[in-house]
Amino acid sequence: MSQVKSTLRVPYGLRDGKMWAARDVLTGIACRCLCLGCQQPLVAKNHGKKVRPHFAHHVDRACQGAFESSIHRRAKELIIDKGRLMLPAWDGNETMLNPPCAADDDGRLHQGYRVDIPANMVALTDACPEVQRGDYRPDVVARDSEGDLLIEIRVTHAVGDQKTRNVQSDGHRMMEIDLSRITADQAEDPDLFERLVLNTASNRIWLSHPQASDAWRRSRDELKAMIGAKNKVIAADRAYRQRLREENDAQRKTRTTRKERHRQECRQPHLTALATLKKKTSKSVIEAKCLELLRRDRSSADVAVSLVTEDAARSYLHVVPDLGWVYDAHPYLWQAGAYLRFIEGKLPGQTFEQAALGRWVRATYGVDESLWSLFRAQWVARSEALKRGHHMRLPWAWFFSREENKRIPNFFEPIDEFVGKMMRCGVLARDPNRRGWLTICEPPKSRADPISSLVSPPAPSPFFSTPHIVSVTAAPDQNSDPLLGKNIWHESFGIGVVMARMVRCSPVYNVRFGDDYWRRILLRSDHHDWRLIDRSPLPSAVPWQYGAPPHHSHA
Ligand SMILES: [Zn+2]
Repeated sequence: MSQVKSTLRVPYGLRDGKMWAARDVLTGIACRCLCLGCQQPLVAKNHGKKVRPHFAHHVDRACQGAFESSIHRRAKELIIDKGRLMLPAWDGNETMLNPPCAADDDGRLHQGYRVDIPANMVALTDACPEVQRGDYRPDVVARDSEGDLLIEIRVTHAVGDQKTRNVQSDGHRMMEIDLSRITADQAEDPDLFERLVLNTASNRIWLSHPQASDAWRRSRDELKAMIGAKNKVIAADRAYRQRLREENDAQRKTRTTRKERHRQECRQPHLTALATLKKKTSKSVIEAKCLELLRRDRSSADVAVSLVTEDAARSYLHVVPDLGWVYDAHPYLWQAGAYLRFIEGKLPGQTFEQAALGRWVRATYGVDESLWSLFRAQWVARSEALKRGHHMRLPWAWFFSREENKRIPNFFEPIDEFVGKMMRCGVLARDPNRRGWLTICEPPKSRADPISSLVSPPAPSPFFSTPHIVSVTAAPDQNSDPLLGKNIWHESFGIGVVMARMVRCSPVYNVRFGDDYWRRILLRSDHHDWRLIDRSPLPSAVPWQYGAPPHHSHA
């Protein structure tokens, strides 16, 4: 739209108190019209074929405001003369969003009902220009079926806010027709200009519409009341949730306290053992213990291993399990002892329970009681957890800390490892019919075992490179009895040297199972709890304490 408004061309001229269009007057100076801006004569240019009829100043001069004032005046006259007007639609404004809208305390938006006042054409009566109303003067005052109607025509300036507020407080309807963007072409076409002033809905707004504002306020108040009710529900709900949270917190606190108390009760019997756990399982202490066990048990272990007839098994007995130190004997010794007790000389197909082997090792060689009690506690706790349906692969007690649980040695692990090694070298197999039971296998010579042949046996330990067995230096009188001075293997006491017969012709002999460990043993050939060992006799100097005291022996 062209904004160029000629200061020389004027769309309407004043004659006899009225504004005239150029087409409706005589041509030239004969039109007798004046410029509304400067009151100088105009000439009507209405004879051209190409140019739309218009006025121009008779004497060329710059006349500011002639265009605006002439269309303003012409618009007022049209409204008053024609007695009809298109009223704008009311659709809220910056301070009255239509429909009214507000959020509740949960942040959800709600809308009131929409105030719907469409644009409509009305007939006007009593239309007058420029009537003073209080402290302002609207361009036109008229009446329609709804009552007084104030009309402002905007050509250059919009109606000021102060003016609008005054009108609103006076309770009058007031509208504004916006002609500020009208072009010279539009202004010079009297028919189009009339339509723009009287008929067009899009170029006008309500500055004040008391009924619409009242309806909007009613809608807003209803919305406020509705949101107020919603907020009450929200507040009640929040209070309820808060109370629930507090109750839950209190319950959880009680539960935590109760659980903590229970935990302390469960820990109570183990506090002494726990106090030494870290030290006993430290690397340096374990290493020192292994060295000490080796020093003490080395020669005994040599003898025990030398009694193992199965070569493949013997080399596996030199391998030390990670947790081998948990029993109070060097793994060389307890592994060889377990072999002699459970495997050596047993018939193929004989079975025994792995748990029995574990119990025997523990009873025979002993354990650190405090570590063992912690492990037992873990084991029992795990069994209970399994019963309650918790999956738990490793021994674990809920009342021990994570670090404590990890530090407690698993006493079953070295036994598992020992059995695994024996299975690898082919002397043992799992009993397929009974869980936890083991079977003695056929001697390896008659058995092709592809797995054991693949697993190369470990290198022999330097401590076992040669049997340390030497001749008995102080042999007893061997002429009187063939058993005297011989080595025997006894089911309960292990390896011993037959030293003397109790009474002549009696089957009861004194047998030495260590330096200071004597037993009276029935050595009758029909008793199977002992047998002769056809090896070199034991050196008397070996500090040898292999057998277990009777009350420890495995039943
Ligand atoms: Zn002028």
